Amino acid sequence: MRVLVLGSGGREHALIRSLAQDPDVTALHCAPGNAGTGALADNHVLDPTDPVAVVELAQRLAVQLVVIGPEAPLVAGVGDALRRAGLLCFGPDAAAARIEGSKAFAKEIMAAAGVPTADSRVCESTDGVNAALDAFGPPYVVKDDGLAAGKGVVVTEDRAIAARHAAQCERVVIEEFLDGPEVSLFALTDGTTVVPLLPAQDFKRAYNDDQGPNTGGMGAYTPLPWAPAGLVDEVVQTIIQPTVDELRRRETPYTGVLYAGLALTSKGVRVIEFNARFGDPETQVVLDRLATPLGSLLQACAVGGLGSAPALEWRPGAAVTVVVAAENYPGRPTVGDPIAGLEEADAVEGAYVLHAGTKLERGLPVSAGGRVLDVVGTGPDLAAARAAAYTAAERIRLRGAHYRTDIAAKV
Ligand code: AMP
Repeated sequence: MRVLVLGSGGREHALIRSLAQDPDVTALHCAPGNAGTGALADNHVLDPTDPVAVVELAQRLAVQLVVIGPEAPLVAGVGDALRRAGLLCFGPDAAAARIEGSKAFAKEIMAAAGVPTADSRVCESTDGVNAALDAFGPPYVVKDDGLAAGKGVVVTEDRAIAARHAAQCERVVIEEFLDGPEVSLFALTDGTTVVPLLPAQDFKRAYNDDQGPNTGGMGAYTPLPWAPAGLVDEVVQTIIQPTVDELRRRETPYTGVLYAGLALTSKGVRVIEFNARFGDPETQVVLDRLATPLGSLLQACAVGGLGSAPALEWRPGAAVTVVVAAENYPGRPTVGDPIAGLEEADAVEGAYVLHAGTKLERGLPVSAGGRVLDVVGTGPDLAAARAAAYTAAERIRLRGAHYRTDIAAKV
């Protein structure tokens, strides 16, 4: 199987790494990729949100499967264009990807499917915003209706900050605050059958103890020893399957991976958000544990027939990833700095480094984005995996870089 992966982050490096280990995958391409994907796949310069350019590249490379990593190409209709051209694509059409692209649409689907989520109001005027803020009270949860790369959400006790964020959005969703630990669950689907992956937890805030601004994610781990038994089955039955069924019923079937961001509240499991793609950085730890070859699995989602695929196999043990971020991230990050210590980090037993915002300059890796590297640690348990990740992270040298030191610490 010849495969093209779209995207350039740590998630895509993790996908490429797993696909490279699948004996059925004979050729691997990435567009645009980063310095890490370039070591395992052929990188191609391309705007992954340009449907015409993606179709042209996929045809030229004669790939049998295109795997869409990030949300922007999905929302831009790259999946639609590939399927129209007769190519297999892992990732939903734009109509189904709206479950991520519009928070208001996600709420509508959840209401129709009876899926438990936070009570919410969609507001388009200042009066509407003020009324909703009063109705829900603090802590205030204010979400930009559109795509904002994980940064469109403000959760605050400060009403002025909440109102200011709402004023910056064209359309805003204001909702009930959900208390309780968060879980990310990815489920593969061909539009009918749902196959859940291991649950993971990510760390959204920039600094230790969940302080500072929201980011794309600063670290993750799996498994979750504290999660209630039966959680995954419950989430599939009450959340994922009804959502997939509702989208199929509307004749916008959902294929690819449906990512449920969940809060385990005292009143039960609630959906915080849906995403239409693999989460970054949770994918880095979840795929690390997956023993089933990834290529045929993603292909089964694209072709249909996931129901007859064999049960997934998982490696025992645990994985922890720590995101090494550039100076100033999540503000405007400093880029173009040399990255050293990669080999030393990779040499740590049980650890390896995935690239996110990196590129090669005169053959040497330099920072090229906010989240620069994902240092992954593995081991028989979370403590060992965590120790491996941090021993390796300490060996990375990048001017001004920062990372959280409390990923998976409390477990
Ligand atoms: P989202 O982009 O919707 O995942 O939101 C980003 C982060 O904001 C989530 O991971 C939560 O930590 C937080 N968040 C979003 N919605 C809520 C909510 N209703 N209650 C509490 N926290 C929330």
